[in-house]
Amino acid sequence: MSNSRGRRTFATFVVLLALSAAAVVAAPVIESWLRFAAHAVSIGEPDGTWPLPIETEPHWSEDAPGLEQPAGQEGSGWHVAPGGTGRVGVGRLYRYRVEVEAGSGLSAAEVARVVDNALRDPRGWSNEVAFQRVEAGDVEMVIRVASPATVDRLCAPMDTNGEVSCTNGNLVVLNLVRWNHGVKAYADAVADYRVLVVNHEVGHRIGHSGHPPCPGPGRPSPVMMQVYYTGLQGCVRNIWPYTTDGAFIG
Ligand SMILES: [Zn+2]
Repeated sequence: MSNSRGRRTFATFVVLLALSAAAVVAAPVIESWLRFAAHAVSIGEPDGTWPLPIETEPHWSEDAPGLEQPAGQEGSGWHVAPGGTGRVGVGRLYRYRVEVEAGSGLSAAEVARVVDNALRDPRGWSNEVAFQRVEAGDVEMVIRVASPATVDRLCAPMDTNGEVSCTNGNLVVLNLVRWNHGVKAYADAVADYRVLVVNHEVGHRIGHSGHPPCPGPGRPSPVMMQVYYTGLQGCVRNIWPYTTDGAFIG
């Protein structure tokens, strides 16, 4: 009887010891699982706006829009187009980097191809200045495609209204909505509009500050016209600042 009770007591002790050990081992696992579950819920809830919240915001300040941010830094919120191009054009060199905002759904390499083709075309600004795309190092221009909210932030104090693009210092910021849908005058020619918006904003960067009107009915529209606001005003579509003969259009 006493032997039997002793064995039962010992057996109970062993079971309790085993349960305690299991609890000690399991607690951190359970805790980390709960933490993971909470994180998964907090980042997974759509808030009904586009795009889904970007987890890591860029860290630069409003008045220094972006150029201090090292290219391609992990978590920067920007994808940098890989590789680069040779130098094209004349005179002052503008080295540039192409970036797309994380979550935009765009490929930085594909955007860079559009930008490179616009800037390297014989009808482009290479008649006035020189361009070279780089992936890293010093640049005179960063060309970004960004969501409307980011455009507004990077273009402040200019008012881009979530609708248009801007050039702010060395930063050329192209609005994703315009990139994807163009403007009314180019609604059926979005690929052409992309070249136009690159030429317009880069035109600002290299010193073309004005917005000329259409010079006359049937004439090619200057690339520095604000077609989003004014339409073509009787001009015909044109996406290049120069003619094939090297004459300036605007
Ligand atoms: Zn403009």
